[in-house]
Amino acid sequence: MDIRKELEKRILVIDGAMGTMIQRHKLQEADYRGERFKDWHCDVKGNNDLLSITQPQIITGIHKQYLDAGADIIETNTFSSTSIAQADYDMQSLAYELNVASAKCARAAIDEYKIQNPTNQDPKFVAGAIGPLNKTLSLSPDVNNPGYRAVTFDEVVTAYYEQIKGLVDGGVDVLLIETIFDTLNAKAAIFAIKKYFHEHPLNPSAAGGRTSSIAQSEVNEEQQNLRTDGAVQGQIPPLGGGGAELPIMISGTITDASGRTLSGQTLEAFYISVMHANPLSVGLNCALGAHEMRPHIEELSQIASCYVSAYPNAGLPNAMGEYDENPEDTGHYLEEWAKEGWVNIVGGCCGTTPDHIKHIADHVRKLQPRELPVVEQV
Ligand SMILES: [Zn+2]
Repeated sequence: MDIRKELEKRILVIDGAMGTMIQRHKLQEADYRGERFKDWHCDVKGNNDLLSITQPQIITGIHKQYLDAGADIIETNTFSSTSIAQADYDMQSLAYELNVASAKCARAAIDEYKIQNPTNQDPKFVAGAIGPLNKTLSLSPDVNNPGYRAVTFDEVVTAYYEQIKGLVDGGVDVLLIETIFDTLNAKAAIFAIKKYFHEHPLNPSAAGGRTSSIAQSEVNEEQQNLRTDGAVQGQIPPLGGGGAELPIMISGTITDASGRTLSGQTLEAFYISVMHANPLSVGLNCALGAHEMRPHIEELSQIASCYVSAYPNAGLPNAMGEYDENPEDTGHYLEEWAKEGWVNIVGGCCGTTPDHIKHIADHVRKLQPRELPVVEQV
């Protein structure tokens, strides 16, 4: 079960929003706490990642709904599962456990799906979601002191490293650095991933997925190509760590009309800043609806030497902060991008539901994936 082999064949669908689905359960403080944290010293309502420990059946159930809707990749409920983000609830010490628990919820949903759909041979993948943090390395939170930073690069690396360890131990297939608005935070996440796999290399035959079917000889051959040709983009991870890594997906967020990230980079600059990670895919998610994201995905599809992903919000939020683009429209937008040959992985971000994912999956199922460009080696 190699995600690269699947991407050569078809467009893969990634799931929709976790938060939107959690909201539907109308959970109260006591639900978030569960039995284990009933006496916790501060409020934890809103700590959605905690639900993977206290209400795992709800999280697994949401993943299962997305699988039923046609998602090929489901994202772990770990957007804020770092010691830095969990400090909001004084739950720093739970970071590792949250990641393991969330990865297990996702795996359990896939197991359940497989039992109920024994004839469906399409592999399903768990992407370990690595969020952007509530503290940024490029921007000062103090308007009177632009040089101030709330965290250091090393602190961010340490927090991501712990998250990555939990995700890998919990059994994810891919690591997804997403909703990147500060490229330096993303670079710290990339550094943490490389460091982790340098210290804990996977068995090379597992490159590209935990139960990869790549023959050892094939891996060796590709590694040989890597050495002689410089890089085989998106084929196998670099050999820097002396062993294989899990594939890395990278997804940035464009936050203004001129097409820049919050830390001020153009899309091309962002792409160049993260390519050293040798990612499986680069793409965009969040902040924009599909209509606004369109020109940026077109641009990215023309410059990226790896696979391209896109999972926009369900339109722009209305005055109430709610997303109301209907699933049929979202499906149509993404179908158009697929017909243009721009995308390899599509799905939804804020406001999208299993219904959105079902429409997206139905619309792109028969379409050809974007072909990887042949990149000249210099
Ligand atoms: Zn979003």
